[in-house]
Amino acid sequence: MDVPQHILPDEILLAYSAGTLCEAFALVVAAQVSLCDETRSRLEAFDSIGGSMVDTAEPADLSEDALAATLARIDGRGKSPIVTAVRRGGTVLPGPVRSYVGGDLDRVHWRPVGMGVKQAILHAEGPVTARLILIPAGVAMPTHSHGGTEMTLVLQGAYRDGDAEFRRGEVEVADQDVRHAPVAIGDEDCICLSAANARLRFTSLIPRLAQPFFRI
Ligand code: ZN
Repeated sequence: MDVPQHILPDEILLAYSAGTLCEAFALVVAAQVSLCDETRSRLEAFDSIGGSMVDTAEPADLSEDALAATLARIDGRGKSPIVTAVRRGGTVLPGPVRSYVGGDLDRVHWRPVGMGVKQAILHAEGPVTARLILIPAGVAMPTHSHGGTEMTLVLQGAYRDGDAEFRRGEVEVADQDVRHAPVAIGDEDCICLSAANARLRFTSLIPRLAQPFFRI
């Protein structure tokens, strides 16, 4: 595939390589890496830096962060199982997501959220969640901001957020400063993997949930 326009920033890949990301965000990274050769190459570079530091440990040359990353790798948390994840023909869900679902899309237990939007929560630990979201083509998510960080990876279809468009393999990282209302574009339902470490803050949920009744 073409190199996606919206890829994971280095600091997130470094945290993943060091094993310091929580499970929900690590799942998004693993899934994105499995869909994007460019990101996989960068992650392998970070992993090999950590690995070579273990092999030729010269403590005096290590920065604090590098040392933390190295220690994380030594105790096994820095392993990157997704590097071997292969995208099989015909499947929508990347390998790391399939292992949560127990198969591909036909195994997902969708639950309606309203306006045709459906979700399936894959992982929840306190306020930290990872879920699949299906947005019917043409439907907009209610406008919301974020109590923390939200990472969204497109697995099928596409969505537009302001002037930016996100397609399969592309990821959007939003934080407290971002207020948006992503809208599914194209002919296909948009399916995303989304992870957040805090609740979303909807600004006008009730009017938007009522839209189907009022046909506005
Ligand atoms: Zn958002």
